[in-house]
Amino acid sequence: MLSAIMEDYLKAIYYLQDETDERVRTSTLAEHMGVEQPSVTSMMKKLAERDLVHHEPYKGVELTDTGIPIALEIIRHHRLLERYLTDHLEYDWAEVHDEADRLEHHISNQFADRIAEQLGDPAVDPHGDPIPTAELDISAPKCGETLADHQVGDSVRIERVPDEDADLLRYLSEHGIHPGTEVEIVEVTSFGMVTLDLDGGDEPVALPEKVARSISAQSLSEDTS
Ligand SMILES: [Zn+2]
Repeated sequence: MLSAIMEDYLKAIYYLQDETDERVRTSTLAEHMGVEQPSVTSMMKKLAERDLVHHEPYKGVELTDTGIPIALEIIRHHRLLERYLTDHLEYDWAEVHDEADRLEHHISNQFADRIAEQLGDPAVDPHGDPIPTAELDISAPKCGETLADHQVGDSVRIERVPDEDADLLRYLSEHGIHPGTEVEIVEVTSFGMVTLDLDGGDEPVALPEKVARSISAQSLSEDTS
């Protein structure tokens, strides 16, 4: 049995590796986990002893073929729990991430499969992140573009929003912004503030550059698939 913290490390390495397609530096991992580097180094030793990661000093760390499915299983638990909490237990989407972070370590794969069945095998979690299948296949994100990559006048569909910042999620849902929402970009200032017009005719919503850069959005004009 792995501890919850070991599982959290595997998940973090998976995310960071996925983002950059490279080995993960222990300093990056330390920052992501909010711990000092020596703790990361000693944890990497433990995980390497179990053949879950390859760790070479100065070259960083990557998951082994044994480590990858464990990380994906935890991600599957997390995202299915988020979906279940929002759809069936009336949790706000801003609250589900922390709750899923706790529960993900304690449910069995069978329990996760039952949730999936109950929900009709959803493809994405409430934030638009793909849910790995029971076979642990995970679809690549639909597009790498963010709100900050588009021009004034572009119509785009929101694909994914970051799931960790509860205040941001509350702000977005108050303004009607979810994965699937279609918006038009009406202004981009020289300092990167992006203003959106929503389909429903609500008031325009202005987002700072950092936020715009964290939200995936696909152009609707090029969307023929
Ligand atoms: Zn989450």
